[in-house]
Amino acid sequence: TEKARHRLDDLIRYMLPLLEADAIEHNIALNLVLEEVPPLLMNENEIRQLLLNLFRNAVEAMQGGGELSILTYVEQGGPVLEVRDQGTGIDQKVLGSIFTPFFTTKAHGTGLGLAVCRSIAERHGATIRAHARPDGTSFKVMFGTGVWDL
Ligand code: ADP
Ligand code: MG
Repeated sequence: TEKARHRLDDLIRYMLPLLEADAIEHNIALNLVLEEVPPLLMNENEIRQLLLNLFRNAVEAMQGGGELSILTYVEQGGPVLEVRDQGTGIDQKVLGSIFTPFFTTKAHGTGLGLAVCRSIAERHGATIRAHARPDGTSFKVMFGTGVWDL
């Protein structure tokens, strides 16, 4: 697959109209905290897909509305993409299964969103993790150092 150098924060800015429309429709306030991060060798379509999958899950977890945050920043020298929601949270019992293909807790879910996210992350030398937060869930995608030097 083709890769080119892009900044995560720019990619999110380009997607903003799409994300904003979806958020408004679901009574969700979109909060962007986009720090400029080092450019990354990425397949732009794949990273867009990764973000959209995390965003969709966040929206689906927030039936009552709330605030959805998308952040970019640098941690341990590498760019990070984080999606935080104020949704239902993830049951401790299923936390170990959410990245497994076809695992879903939704009546009409495919269970493929996070499995795809994980494959895309792996193809970019990144790791993806879910974190429980007091008011919801956050997913962090951590791109290691050096990826953008290739
Ligand atoms: P699907 O969305 O089709 O169920 P995913 O692979 O995207 O499949 O997600 C798998 C499961 O992980 C979901 O069914 C849900 O239980 C859990 N999950 C994922 N993201 C979130 C989130 N932001 N908040 C709460 N649960 C989540
Ligand atoms: Mg999903």
